[in-house]
Amino acid sequence: MQSISPEIIFRGNDAWEKALPRISKLIQNPLILGRSIHTENLRDLLLRDLKNQKLSVNSDNLHFDCCYEDISRLRNIILENNNDAVIAAGGGKVLDSGKYLAESLDIPCITVPLSASTCAGWTALSNIYTKNGQFIKDVPLRSCPKVLVYDHKFIQTAPSRTLASGIADALAKWYESSITSATIDDGLVQQAIQISRVLRDQLLLQGEKAFKDPFENNSSWRNTIEACGLTAGLVGGIGGEKCRTAAAHAIHNAITQIITPNKFLHGEIVGVGLLLQLRLEEMKNNNKLADQSIKQLSKLMNKLNLPTTISELEINVFENQNLNKIADFVCRDNSEIHFLPFEINKQDIIELIVNFEQQKIII
Ligand SMILES: [Zn+2]
Repeated sequence: MQSISPEIIFRGNDAWEKALPRISKLIQNPLILGRSIHTENLRDLLLRDLKNQKLSVNSDNLHFDCCYEDISRLRNIILENNNDAVIAAGGGKVLDSGKYLAESLDIPCITVPLSASTCAGWTALSNIYTKNGQFIKDVPLRSCPKVLVYDHKFIQTAPSRTLASGIADALAKWYESSITSATIDDGLVQQAIQISRVLRDQLLLQGEKAFKDPFENNSSWRNTIEACGLTAGLVGGIGGEKCRTAAAHAIHNAITQIITPNKFLHGEIVGVGLLLQLRLEEMKNNNKLADQSIKQLSKLMNKLNLPTTISELEINVFENQNLNKIADFVCRDNSEIHFLPFEINKQDIIELIVNFEQQKIII
């Protein structure tokens, strides 16, 4: 069984207004789930609009992350209120929590991404973290959300950092799926990989223009936000679990194990993981194109103010056993790193990171 996409997608500058009549036919008593103080006004607007449609609505927030503590607290709230749907409005952690909660209670989930930082509004997957943001595991869900509302005017209010992060995460699709799944003899998987290549090309061509001029009348911005929030999700939907993540996400998951005072966004960490993956391919798989890709990606990442080393994520790998902790987590038994078509051990990861942190990439 494969769930390729949400049942209904509304997109564009007035997606929310267009979605409202449909939503009010579908549900009567939703919980609006959010988190950030910066998106409170937007969530209030959703609440008012739904009440005007004669729906009974309540709202609540994540206190931490997409973690079991928040999920079980919110599960009780939904049961007490007898909510018949979850409307998850926010970034990846909120969307993942909303999808997970809705599925576990067998009620529909409506996703309303409020930034372009993630394709979580689309996918049938939730990433579970600890309260402190340490990655625990991916949970595959039975289906994609019932309705996805990708309203450009909401996305436009998000900080530019979220767009940069979404670009890095979406770029990883090609570099990860092409190395793990190129040998899979399944037409849909091959087509999904090709979509991720077109997605990468579009982001390389238009990502910087989108970042510098984030307005609806800029077609680069429109294309880029939809590439990050929609197309990246479509690749996962068509490719399914065979169109896998690889080292970039395995390294992301390991880096989140180190708790830092300032939290970095998912794609910001994945971007660093992507550069490391390419260096690993060069080191272990004799990939002669990897250095070129590193230079090409680093150039774009610098323009998008994205971190390009672990130290720029405010982690000193040479302190507190951090290097060991990261290498252990990257190489643990069920890590995505083992989807790579070559063997990796802890010593490889240590060597990779030490060399990577000490070099300056010459673009
Ligand atoms: Zn990701």
